[in-house]
Amino acid sequence: MNKNDLWFDASCCFIANQWLEPLSGETLELSNPSDGSLLCQIARCKQADVDRAVSTAQKALGGEWGKLTAPERGRILYRMGQLVLERADQLARLEAMDVGKPLKQAKADAIALARYMEFYAGACDKVHGSTIPYMDGYTVYTLREPHGVTGHIVPWNYPMQIIGRSVGAALAMGNATVLKPAEEACLTALAFADIAREAGLPEGALNVVPGLGAEAGAALSSHAGVQHISFTGSVTVGKLIQSAAAANVVPVTLELGGKSPQLVFEDADIDVALPFLVNAGIQNAGQTCSASSRILVHRTRYDEVVEKMAASYSQLRVGAALDDLDIGPLISARQKGIVNNFIDKASDLHLAAQGSVSDEVNDGGHYVSPMLFSGVTPEHTLAQEEIFGPVQVVIGFDDEEHAVQIANGTQYGLVASIWSRDGARQMRLAKRLRSGQVFINNYGAGGGVELPFGGSGLSGHGREKGFEALYGFSTLKTVAAKHD
Ligand code: NAD
Repeated sequence: MNKNDLWFDASCCFIANQWLEPLSGETLELSNPSDGSLLCQIARCKQADVDRAVSTAQKALGGEWGKLTAPERGRILYRMGQLVLERADQLARLEAMDVGKPLKQAKADAIALARYMEFYAGACDKVHGSTIPYMDGYTVYTLREPHGVTGHIVPWNYPMQIIGRSVGAALAMGNATVLKPAEEACLTALAFADIAREAGLPEGALNVVPGLGAEAGAALSSHAGVQHISFTGSVTVGKLIQSAAAANVVPVTLELGGKSPQLVFEDADIDVALPFLVNAGIQNAGQTCSASSRILVHRTRYDEVVEKMAASYSQLRVGAALDDLDIGPLISARQKGIVNNFIDKASDLHLAAQGSVSDEVNDGGHYVSPMLFSGVTPEHTLAQEEIFGPVQVVIGFDDEEHAVQIANGTQYGLVASIWSRDGARQMRLAKRLRSGQVFINNYGAGGGVELPFGGSGLSGHGREKGFEALYGFSTLKTVAAKHD
């Protein structure tokens, strides 16, 4: 890492617009997934730092931040977005080194962060209550108000995008936020805080407390001064977060990943579908909550789809993030272990194709080759569990009913897509698929800052992104005035 890469103090937490050493004085090592080298030290925040961040956020609600009008908040959020755009290359480099994602994907994430800020900047003064016709002598109306202090616990796979969609929406509604980035990748969270300060975000509106999940994360999710928690990450930790929030009776938004299917029917245009089928599985080395890890294909087109996907897989190149190939390393040795365990369970499957890891990679990096398996039954472990690595399975189906049964046959429900030219089928299945988002003849719709996102079942609950997120990050007050 060059000296110019870090223009803020990465070993500190960010509270009240200041870089402060954690009260324990302890730090954690942040490593580069591409070669295992040390990137820098980051703060190891604990309960006392989280207490400090939460009380600073509480003060912000009663101070300058809380007194801003909605258009004034919007202007600041817009400036944050513009600064993110100006620094997009710098942010992308940081994210690439920290997360291991290829530079072009990291750049797309930086641009998405800017876009979230623009979207939520514009929305600040557009969320309003309503009037309700009631009994004679009354006037009744509703007010949309912030929850208060909101906690944001984000993972390492898409730090910039997840910060944009959750912190951006929470700030738009006037909440004061405390952000706990992942211990594996937190540099762009800190960079974003510095950008917020530079854009004029009043002190205490955004506080960042890096640290371990079991320390800073647990302290934030169980804090009595926090009125809403937004969490993206594993199902195991999601359950802990929901229990902690239940103890304080506060709402949570949980986004816990998926096993998202793409359904390819006999009338699909396979050549149009092909890049979506593959990219949705391997983007960010498959470490994507909305990764499409199951490809369901009508038996009449099964061999053709496997053959074409296999040809694409054999072209995929894996290498260091800054070499900007198709796929980077996994985030950690631990994540590589998780993915390899799944691959070990695939010995009864047919490996249709795999990509190649560049000869240039450093042995200290966490590389795996992307793998496509065919001949997979819907019950197989690889067809049921979230792998969070560049592994896809292709499953055959007999007819529409069978396809729906397989698609809805996991404990998850985050994203699905339908590849078919039949309009009636598209509409029918969009209703029947158990999924927070359904795409027709595409997958992911280019990121979709504007599109509400979230799941059902083990994928979690609540919605982020789009206008819908603003309802989740606010509360509704009913005012009934009797005047006659
Ligand atoms: P994780 O759930 O442990 O971590 C996500 C965030 O939660 C991090 O900021 C972490 O510090 C925090 N956290 C951890 N323990 C906590 C606790 N007890 N209280 C409060 N916060 C806590 O995810 P992971 O261990 O990094 O990854 C493991 C698996 O989780 C992956 O293999 C993948 O299946 C899944 N995952 C899903 C997503 C997603 O986008 N849905 C993201 C990351 C990981």
